[in-house]
Amino acid sequence: MNQIPRLKFAQLPTPIEAMPRLSTHLGGPRLFIKRDDLTGLALGGNKTRKLEFLVAEAQANGAKTLITAGALQSNHCRQTAAAAAKYGFECILVLSGTKPDAPTGNYLLDSLFGAKFVFVENRADRERVLKETFDQAWADGKRPYLVPYGGSNPTGALGYAFAVQEFLSQGLEADWMVFGTSSGGTHAGLVLGQRAFGFNGKVLGVSIDETESWLKAHVSALATEASQRLGTRFEFHPEDVLATDAYCQAGYGVLTDLEREAVQLFAKYEGILLDPVYTGRAAGGMIDLIRSGFFKPGETVLFWNTGGQPALFAEMYQMGLLGQPGANGL
Ligand SMILES: *Cc1c(COP(=O)(O)O)cnc(C)c1O
Repeated sequence: MNQIPRLKFAQLPTPIEAMPRLSTHLGGPRLFIKRDDLTGLALGGNKTRKLEFLVAEAQANGAKTLITAGALQSNHCRQTAAAAAKYGFECILVLSGTKPDAPTGNYLLDSLFGAKFVFVENRADRERVLKETFDQAWADGKRPYLVPYGGSNPTGALGYAFAVQEFLSQGLEADWMVFGTSSGGTHAGLVLGQRAFGFNGKVLGVSIDETESWLKAHVSALATEASQRLGTRFEFHPEDVLATDAYCQAGYGVLTDLEREAVQLFAKYEGILLDPVYTGRAAGGMIDLIRSGFFKPGETVLFWNTGGQPALFAEMYQMGLLGQPGANGL
């Protein structure tokens, strides 16, 4: 286990805090929050834990350039660009959409870290452009290392397996962990950590944009593969993975009443910031589950705050967060 290459730049352990005022307001279970928005590395978030393993692997491979892809307001791209700056890599980001006039939110920060950009207008072209960008960098002698979407491969997922070990050392008895899941690496790591380190509660991913069946298949395969790096192969099957896709019908990054209410409630009752795309949607789903009686009275629910706050300052979400008519993040 000790031989897995890992850099140490995350601020760990992240705190666990009680949310008594929000719990009372919702009349629901005892709510706690794991502050992975405080992991460090350029305003924190869940990609920090993954990048400790991914950047170590890039170094071990002799890479000189990190290439990755995501949405314009990708937190993953922002944190990858920061890690590249910190460890002396060049960074190329393949971003979906058109180059915006105003640099705001994560995209502004990407520029400060010195990342170079390739914009892909048509999402269908993203895979091809990413591959062309990688091949060109290789041909130019830049020794590129491809960081997968969301940092979600077996290497990146290890960050969240060890996060469960960290959580268990903090002594909170939780019945549930709830968090936003998208590319599946966080989810796979948590599921693997649950089994490898013995967490007795349940691990429930609230989908940001993928179907439940895709998540179950993808996360179980990823967790199985990642387990081999820990030295013991565990077999995970789709039915071992808990996920709901009930809250992502609006589409990726579209701000609806669900996210807006969650962002506002966490802010007003606990002074905690969520983000419009991921934690807002995940917390909105959790709040709906509380209201519909999904959790049993007396249960303890840990919400994993995976970060993303820079998107609060993205032009595309600003009006929508305050509930201005016609502003929905598009
Ligand atoms: C990337 C991200 C997620 C989703 O994590 P995955 O490992 O891609 O499923 C959740 N929250 C925030 C803030 C993110 O940036």
